[in-house]
Amino acid sequence: MTSSTSSPVRTRFAPSPTGYLHLGGARTALFSWAFARHHQGVFVLRVEDTDLERSTPEAVQAILDGMQWLGMQPDEGPFYQMQRMDRYREVIAKMLQDGTAYHCYSSPEELDAMREKARAAGLKPRYDGTWRPEPGKTLPPVPADRKPVVRFRNPTEGVTGWNDLIKGPISFDNSELDDLIIARPDGTPTYNFCVVVDDWDMKITHVLRGDDHVNNTPRQINILRALGGTLPEYGHLPMILGPDGEKLSKRHGAVSVMEYDKDGYLPEAMINYLARLGWSHGNDELFTREQLVEWFDTRNLTKSAAQWDPKKLNWVNAHYIKQSSNEDLAARVAPRILAQQGNPEAVDLQTVMALLKDRAETLNQLADGAMLFCAPFTPASPELAAEHLDDAAHALLAEFAVKAKALPDWTTETLDALIKAMLAEHGVKMPKLAIPLRLAVTGQKQTPGIGAVLAILGRDLVLERLAAL
Ligand code: GLU
Repeated sequence: MTSSTSSPVRTRFAPSPTGYLHLGGARTALFSWAFARHHQGVFVLRVEDTDLERSTPEAVQAILDGMQWLGMQPDEGPFYQMQRMDRYREVIAKMLQDGTAYHCYSSPEELDAMREKARAAGLKPRYDGTWRPEPGKTLPPVPADRKPVVRFRNPTEGVTGWNDLIKGPISFDNSELDDLIIARPDGTPTYNFCVVVDDWDMKITHVLRGDDHVNNTPRQINILRALGGTLPEYGHLPMILGPDGEKLSKRHGAVSVMEYDKDGYLPEAMINYLARLGWSHGNDELFTREQLVEWFDTRNLTKSAAQWDPKKLNWVNAHYIKQSSNEDLAARVAPRILAQQGNPEAVDLQTVMALLKDRAETLNQLADGAMLFCAPFTPASPELAAEHLDDAAHALLAEFAVKAKALPDWTTETLDALIKAMLAEHGVKMPKLAIPLRLAVTGQKQTPGIGAVLAILGRDLVLERLAAL
């Protein structure tokens, strides 16, 4: 087999725009991207949009958005197969001329009969080669009213194999492979053929794709050989399974990567998590994009199927949230607060991020937490007030208001110290003061640390709400 490892590495991601960029596609793109980056190569994006019935411009946009969000910009492309039709026609004409392809006039009824015959003989249903030119063979007369398809003249003997970058050696008997249709009666090229011409023209050196394409590979190799092209290396990625061990699907929740953006996941966390679905570097679970690029090697891609684990994704996301600067988090969370009709400018959002980020798993959780400061104040419900705001509580709150007003500094520390001193003085436990305080100034029974909440709300607001009780 001709190998291309000495040429500069060129990989491609070749999605069919029939839906969103889903998790499996994003992972395939990521590995192709990381491999190209690791080798200082070129990452090509090719949109395989020849299925006119199923391809939509919205899906193309969704794929571009997903890749942009994940920071996997292509170095070349997007190329669109629909814009390359002339090139495919040119190659088909050339193949017809040099005899690596031929016209086949068999009607659908004849093809059905052929398949039936093969089946009856206990063979795989297949095209019987009626129109395949052979030395000394007389072909049937061309039917006047029928447009032919073009078939690839596949070798009939020997095996076609490759050393898969992930699965190891794979081979198929050529006798198992049909003479594949490469152009339909209207002249439009078929899927496997376009892929080959593109990989050839785009000088792709490494094809990483889902293992649902394993059966296409020997056909593509044979066509590429017939064209005199250099074979890329192929690596077929095992699929991603859902937490229940079934193939990952819509049933397992969000499958479009942009849903994860909506749900408050950071692109860095997604990249880190997706990379671990089928690739490893020792026991490292957390790594940066730069480390992924530095470490990425197809030898560490796993043969077995990976399993989607939402809990682990949350853990990874929580890590990236903790690592993010308060400024960055505030910028990402502000629009999410606005989306909840909150006002992100009602508070110093960076301070709020500092308060919340150690316990949040998603940006949406940060936004929910920040609403304590960004939503209009709603007083405690009458039920909560009746339960916790009795006379003793009112007395404590009144005393707290006086002492807090007199504090020289209004900080988490001075406020916590004041609360502690009052608890000691009155011989009561934390909830006796903290719950009434929370209800009085936030309307809620549960909040993050009360000293920090009071500090963020500010002296004026806290005293105003206490006075209003
Ligand atoms: N367009 C194909 C798909 O979305 C991928 C083809 C390939 O990677 O060779 O499944």
